Amino acid sequence: MTELHPYLRELPAVDRLLKEPALGELLERLPRRLVLAAVQETLQGYRQKISAEREGGRFMAGLDLSTAVLAQEAAMLAQNRALPRLRPVINATGIVLHTNLGRAPLARAAAQAVTSIMEGYCNLEMDLEEGVRGSRQAHLERLLCELTGAEAAVVVNNNAAAVFLLLNSCAAGKEVIVSRGQLVEIGGSFRLPEVMAAGGVRLVEVGTTNKTYRRDYEAAITADTAALLKVHTSNYQLVGFTASVDAKEIAGLAHAHNLLAVEDLGSGVLIDTTRFGLPPEPRVQESIAAGMDLVTFSGDKLLGGPQAGIIVGRRELIEKIRRNQLARALRVDKLTVAALEATLRLYLDEEKAVREIPIWRALAASLSRLRERAETLAARLRDYFSEVDLELLEGSSRVGGGALPTAELPTVLISLRVPGKEASELAGRLRGGSPPVIVRLQQERLLFDLRTVGPEQDELLLQALAAALEEE
Ligand SMILES: *Cc1c(COP(=O)(O)O)cnc(C)c1O
Repeated sequence: MTELHPYLRELPAVDRLLKEPALGELLERLPRRLVLAAVQETLQGYRQKISAEREGGRFMAGLDLSTAVLAQEAAMLAQNRALPRLRPVINATGIVLHTNLGRAPLARAAAQAVTSIMEGYCNLEMDLEEGVRGSRQAHLERLLCELTGAEAAVVVNNNAAAVFLLLNSCAAGKEVIVSRGQLVEIGGSFRLPEVMAAGGVRLVEVGTTNKTYRRDYEAAITADTAALLKVHTSNYQLVGFTASVDAKEIAGLAHAHNLLAVEDLGSGVLIDTTRFGLPPEPRVQESIAAGMDLVTFSGDKLLGGPQAGIIVGRRELIEKIRRNQLARALRVDKLTVAALEATLRLYLDEEKAVREIPIWRALAASLSRLRERAETLAARLRDYFSEVDLELLEGSSRVGGGALPTAELPTVLISLRVPGKEASELAGRLRGGSPPVIVRLQQERLLFDLRTVGPEQDELLLQALAAALEEE
């Protein structure tokens, strides 16, 4: 056995550390086990570093292993561990639907609906008029039908679940025909061929990567075919020489052969995106009007609501989907129902939806207003921190979240650099701040895009930035 490193013998015992004022004070307001775990973790960290030094590391020289220093370090760790891990952040990236940052922030009305429902009992599955058992879907179905023109609707956990459930309910054991140009992968784990296989459906690919014609679908139809599936290429675009078959033609062809026409819209949107200078994104009501039997889309992409997967379409097919055993496993909870109902209600008045749903507010923000806010923020930062190198640049914001991948919205960026400081280190400090701020990093500069920062958050952002710049 090798001899114990002298530093290891010097490390104080857990009990002694806990008696230090820094930790004693924390023990009064935090759970003991949390503080204890932080102390043990801190000591363990030192033990590992000290043992590693045997192999030639040099960080130990002049190390202060006093009880007070270690207690201080453990106290900081404990305080950090006492914060919720999931917390609000400021999204200064300019990516409106940032999947890593929770996609769509909810409208105030939706957040209030969630709060009012979650604190007590609610009529989730009770029909208040008849006093009998009702369906949780009833709170959403009428609104969805009114907004999309469909006969019926069912809502599940997310759009991946919606596509899976649809295929499994309507085409299990049969063939479904899809264009080769539409075999999407979204976010690494939703891969259409694999979702189809998991749903018990045989994929029949037709056409080529760039061109698929009506005759390709037609030639692939057999006695085993159940449906023609159209998938929106949400997160990529085919450019150059391309051909695809539109929803109306797919529906016509499917119905002429007694087959189903179904469509995965991905994001799905209820209002015209060209209003905001964006490329057109297919609208749910257009797919229904084109004759699609079933259409699926996400709740938290361009709808701007909670995570959910929405299936709208013909009543008998929706009933069949609801009867699938898996529908229970994929169903939405009451908080989602509350948030989605409130979000959908806003769309009854399109202007209200644009004003009150955060993603539309962000997408509709004018360049002049963004510039004004950026100028104000930059001027105030210059007042406090004369050494900071700040400039305003023209750039573009992105829609993100696997929707409108090529769209670029003109924006104003605050570009910031602190001479002698690494940009990545500053970005790390901002992420570790309270609230955390997420920024873009580009060539040793930090870029802030206020499009995704609510105007009411400007002050908070300034404070978070000031705190990060002041830190030694
Ligand atoms: C985003 C997307 C999905 C997955 O939707 P989630 O709501 O993230 O599960 C499926 N299909 C398409 C075409 C998409 O764009």
